Amino acid sequence: MRLVIVSNRLPFSVTKGKDGTTFKETAGGLVSGISDYLDSLKSSFSTETLWIGWPGAEIDQKDRDEVKQKSLSEFSAVPVFISEKDMDDFYLGFCNKTLWPLFHSFPAYAVYKEKFWNSYRKINNTYLDTVQELLKPGDILWIHDYHLMLLPGLVREKMPDIPIGFFLHIPFPPHEIFQFLPNRIRMEILEGILGADLSGFHINEYTQNFLRCVLRTLGYEQHIGEINLIKRIAKADTFPMGINFNKFFNAGYRINNETASPAADLGDTKKILSVDRLDYTKGIMNRLSGFELFLEKNPAWRRKVIMHLICVPSRIGVQRYRITKSRIDQLVGKINGRFGDTDWIPIHYQYKYLPLDQLSLLYSACDAALVTPLRDGMNLIAKEYIASKRDKTGVLILSEMAGAAKELQEAIIINPNSIEEIASAIKEALEKPVEEQQRQNEIMQKRLSNYDIIKWADEFLNELKAVHEERIRFHANYMNSSAKESMILKFKNAGSRIIFLDYDGTLVPFVEDPGKAAPDEEVVYLLELLKRIPRTEVVLISGRDRKTLTDWFDPLDLKLISEHGAWAKDGRGEWQLIKPLMNDWKPRLLPVVRMYADRLPGSFIEEKTFSIVWHYRKSDRELASIRVKELVDDLLQLTSNMDVQVLQGSKVIEIKNSGVNKGASALHFLLKNRYDFILAIGDDLTDEDMFMALPEDAFSIKVGDQHSNAKYNLRDYKEVRSLIEEIVK
Ligand code: UDP
Repeated sequence: MRLVIVSNRLPFSVTKGKDGTTFKETAGGLVSGISDYLDSLKSSFSTETLWIGWPGAEIDQKDRDEVKQKSLSEFSAVPVFISEKDMDDFYLGFCNKTLWPLFHSFPAYAVYKEKFWNSYRKINNTYLDTVQELLKPGDILWIHDYHLMLLPGLVREKMPDIPIGFFLHIPFPPHEIFQFLPNRIRMEILEGILGADLSGFHINEYTQNFLRCVLRTLGYEQHIGEINLIKRIAKADTFPMGINFNKFFNAGYRINNETASPAADLGDTKKILSVDRLDYTKGIMNRLSGFELFLEKNPAWRRKVIMHLICVPSRIGVQRYRITKSRIDQLVGKINGRFGDTDWIPIHYQYKYLPLDQLSLLYSACDAALVTPLRDGMNLIAKEYIASKRDKTGVLILSEMAGAAKELQEAIIINPNSIEEIASAIKEALEKPVEEQQRQNEIMQKRLSNYDIIKWADEFLNELKAVHEERIRFHANYMNSSAKESMILKFKNAGSRIIFLDYDGTLVPFVEDPGKAAPDEEVVYLLELLKRIPRTEVVLISGRDRKTLTDWFDPLDLKLISEHGAWAKDGRGEWQLIKPLMNDWKPRLLPVVRMYADRLPGSFIEEKTFSIVWHYRKSDRELASIRVKELVDDLLQLTSNMDVQVLQGSKVIEIKNSGVNKGASALHFLLKNRYDFILAIGDDLTDEDMFMALPEDAFSIKVGDQHSNAKYNLRDYKEVRSLIEEIVK
């Protein structure tokens, strides 16, 4: 097995100097997390790995071979070469001016430009080219983050059998916000992600947002995260990303023992840490205002506390980031000017990136950490701070808007929009007794060390393998030409034959108005030819009512079964009940179904002699999905003492007598006569009863791509028609 990772950035960036190209390692949550995981795989020699991504700069044509070679030999990586111009529209454009603000629920900051979207599609295809070139059977592909949301779908099209995982490292927004994107873009993004067998999100809220957007935009239903895509099942699940706990915990140990702590320089002064990429989602302004209010309200704490404010330069090509930076600069100046003096500066501000050892030093030395994002997928800083506390002291103040807040409940949880809450949380943190700090941090440390980065990745990959294996097991088994030939030969050699044919979806396509699906000339012609073959019985086995079937098929003189097996009719004879039925339950259940039909615009009730059918194909998908669950729940309770069953079909719910189904009605024929050749074709869930009731040597064909109890699949009604054509030839 080889694990192939694809992300926008590689774990290094290439720069060009006088003496050729140089490689510098890069950091950041995604990159350092995945690097740590891949290192653990390398050290156990268990899995070969490959990392595909952008090398951080435009590489001249003449340097590309060298960069490729070095990437592969030193980092097991393959660079995707992208021009600076493309990167502007793709990365700074669609990724960071459109998706980033929108997915973080800042719709007012989002910019929509067609050229950004075109570039996003183009670059996802550029990644596809490299992936296609490198991927081989047996590989597992794991695609990361919002830059590459189309890629899973693109790969799936080209390589249908590869296991594909996708993980989103930022929030997935609520539908109301996702809807700001034009519909065609929304659809393409969701279809792209659904190319993956498994899509992972940091917290359940994002998973649910995604599932809801899938239902509202594409109409795919889900059941405990499994999305029925007709052709296959895709899964969405929650995996809160962990950190390399030991790396931070041990760095804390080294610092405590080997390095002079910066605490010594500042005597008893308490230190509050604030470190983030400079991004408007991080709530840095709110944090500063909270600190200002704290100093204002608590004069006794002045000169006894400082804030280490580290802002890491980020996306400086995007104007919104430049505006944020200048606001932060101003506010820091204002607070330092207002409260500071010659020997005390409240905010020690650095605008730079810190390597791991310096960051660990700060984590370790600071008495409190202020992490106040307005919206953050996970926030690893919060986790790293807790993990670095070797002596278990220190207080984390954490925004409830960070994904990490779901796991770090022992922190002081605040709402970042309340400056007052931030100010009083700072006071509470600075005055918290040491024993309490240690007790709370111990609980959080345990949690973080149990579910670390290795566990996170292992769990994701194990689930991916399971979903993929399930998919392979339930693969549709398309009837190939040799299976067709051998079936037709058996048909020709048989002394007596019976063919069960479902109607809607099997012989004719589905239409919105069921009354408009009358048989066309071709179907009538084919059925006639089939029926004319001696010693061959053709049974049309449908869910439709008797009148429709009589009107449409009486001239053909076929055997008919209506209402999914309630009634049978032999040619032009009378309709007869297959088994005695009661419908005394109908007056009791009809008002309940009517109430739901009234509450779901676009739905309607079809009343048959022995069943009630509620159709909701034209209704709002999300509301329908809720109402269906409610109705089924109500009906199951109401019918517990009745001899009726509740069945869910394709956008319909049917309530009918128990024991009435297509399987029982097929047996009605099979028990009366002996047939050498039996064939059943159907597309719906109700046809599964028929497939299951047939003897072992019968032929059964499911129309559509789903897994089924039938032996074979055909793609659609057109393929069914051409099969009948071959049979009657
Ligand atoms: N980081 C770093 N040096 C810095 C600041 C941050 O190495 O000066 C790393 C930090 O260790 C963490 C990551 O950057 O792993 C930030 O991840 P987080 O999820 O907190 O925020 P993001 O930047 O992904 O939005």
